[in-house]
Amino acid sequence: MSSKLEQARALDAADALAHFRERFLIADPEMIYLDGNSLGRLPLCAETSMADLLRRQWGERLIRSWNEGWFTLPERVGGKLAQLVGAQADEVIVADSTSINLFKLAVAGLRLQRSRRRILTDDLNFPSDVYILQGIVEMLDAGHRLEIVHSEDGVHGPVEALLAALDEDVALVVLSHTVFKSGYMYDMRAITEAVHAVGALVLWDLSHSVGSAPVALNAAGADLAVGCTYKYVNGGPGAPAFLYVRRDLQERLQNPISGWMGQRAPFDFALDYAPEVGIRRFLTGTPPVLSLAMIEPGVDLLLEAGLEALRAKSVQQTSFLISLWEERLAPLGYTLKSPRQAERRGSHISLGHPEGWRINQALIHDLGVLPDFRAPDNIRLGVAPLYTSFIDVYAAAERLQRAVEERIYMRHSSGRATVT
Ligand SMILES: *Cc1c(COP(=O)(O)O)cnc(C)c1O
Repeated sequence: MSSKLEQARALDAADALAHFRERFLIADPEMIYLDGNSLGRLPLCAETSMADLLRRQWGERLIRSWNEGWFTLPERVGGKLAQLVGAQADEVIVADSTSINLFKLAVAGLRLQRSRRRILTDDLNFPSDVYILQGIVEMLDAGHRLEIVHSEDGVHGPVEALLAALDEDVALVVLSHTVFKSGYMYDMRAITEAVHAVGALVLWDLSHSVGSAPVALNAAGADLAVGCTYKYVNGGPGAPAFLYVRRDLQERLQNPISGWMGQRAPFDFALDYAPEVGIRRFLTGTPPVLSLAMIEPGVDLLLEAGLEALRAKSVQQTSFLISLWEERLAPLGYTLKSPRQAERRGSHISLGHPEGWRINQALIHDLGVLPDFRAPDNIRLGVAPLYTSFIDVYAAAERLQRAVEERIYMRHSSGRATVT
């Protein structure tokens, strides 16, 4: 038996979090799921919560449910999410999608910094975030300039270049804490400090961090943040996102989509908008109760497991995967497109290969592995420490090896699907 297989078994046997896997629906135990960074698995208790929500809360209680918990659901679930990102309960709220929250907070931040014209991001950021910023620059038509700082190797965040670009004309810096392609993780505290030193604000997108690594927004002094709940938080497809605004900034910022749910007294139906005090002012319309409520089971599981323990397991798993890559995959033409340094790495590993797309197809259709693919040649292997086992990681590497060694990828053409 190979020593790596023995190692995987020993690591699973010693894993104090291993039992959390049983709390999820695993419909096909043979299928290796490494896409929890795109769509987390279904927590079993979400089924019970959903049944209660449908039958009792909606079916029986009808409109009365708004006063029996629905109205305060955005801040109640937000308060729990706050524990995952190192913030106070009244600094986080669930609303809309990540893209929309980014829009709201970026506009609010820019308005607070009226005399400043520069907005900085990097070319590793999630494209939707960049599109939103481009749209804002056009919409505000106030002479803002979006500058996309370039990463030298496409893997590591361009820290030096970002720091060098900071000056007193920078209004806002927008970065993904963990970048979606390579999994590089910024040092939140160091970047935030540097941004503050020139008087600018920083907006962190936590989509690829939350639920896989502890985030310390308060300790870093972060101003603003947004994040996704359908990835490592396991909130379900299209689950609403969250936003964070540091407490002392809340009253100074204005929500640019000033709807009735962010109004001080929405049921007075007065015609002049007056923002609610506190984090609720960043709400806009009626919360999507069904999908919002489904975030909670996933958050509860993460809190039960503990973020420090989850992070330790995630680092062990990505390190194990890198050692498998080194031993078995590098000789077959796979390249490592994620940081080797564990502190600078989130919970997924990207491997490049000239035949990446066809290998990915072979993994999905012939080899029972579900990873995902990011152009041009990135095979992304997401480790969700709540339910990914070390044997999963081992078997995925073995199948990546077979895909090339046994030329299984050659059964597939290079045509792309709509959702990759
Ligand atoms: C997944 C993700 C999003 C998703 O945005 P939606 O508005 O939910 O589509 C945004 N930003 C980053 C960095 C992401 O990883």
